[in-house]
Amino acid sequence: MLNYKDKRGNLIILSGPSAVGKGTVLRALLKDYDDICYSVSATTRQPRQGELDGKDYFFMSLNKFKKLIKEDEFIEWAEVHNNYYGTPRSYVEETLATGKDVILEIDIQGAKQVKESFDEGIFVFLAPPSLEELKSRINKRGTETQEAINTRMKNATKEIEEINKYDYLIINDKVASAVDKLKSIIIAERCKL
Ligand code: 5GP
Repeated sequence: MLNYKDKRGNLIILSGPSAVGKGTVLRALLKDYDDICYSVSATTRQPRQGELDGKDYFFMSLNKFKKLIKEDEFIEWAEVHNNYYGTPRSYVEETLATGKDVILEIDIQGAKQVKESFDEGIFVFLAPPSLEELKSRINKRGTETQEAINTRMKNATKEIEEINKYDYLIINDKVASAVDKLKSIIIAERCKL
């Protein structure tokens, strides 16, 4: 086949407020697309039941995480709800160089850093249909104290103001429709010259 485009993959950044459904949308996307590589993040938080090291996260101590920050091993990192999260640089760089697309599922502070420091990326903001709906999703998780819910809601209100810095907005009203929109964005970006 003729080589029409250079072969570098696309970096897709899926971000949005806590509990908006980023993980659910991402899992549904990855089920259908085995040529999109998910970048497994590093975190200092404890594994939840069923989570596997190297698959869901690279679980590590705060000391190790801080050492990796010093060594510039993260494209971005952020403290989210009292734990540290970061995107390993080498995996992303190496995978993009092989021509494969890489997707990051990260919080809004992290997406901001990628925008400022990495010169590529397709930025997708996943938004709740309303703040009331977001609150109800956080409540349904049943994992947060009232204080934590209030903090997340306060953060979400501020985070939504960042929308206009993104390339695309998807409102996560129905998961299947949000996944379709994300697929359409990825397909269109692959055709872009
Ligand atoms: P959880 O602990 O529920 O898996 O994730 C908490 C939050 O951290 C979510 O909003 C998730 O998107 C975000 N997150 C996960 N990995 C990363 C990462 O590598 N960098 C940043 N900045 N946020 C992350």
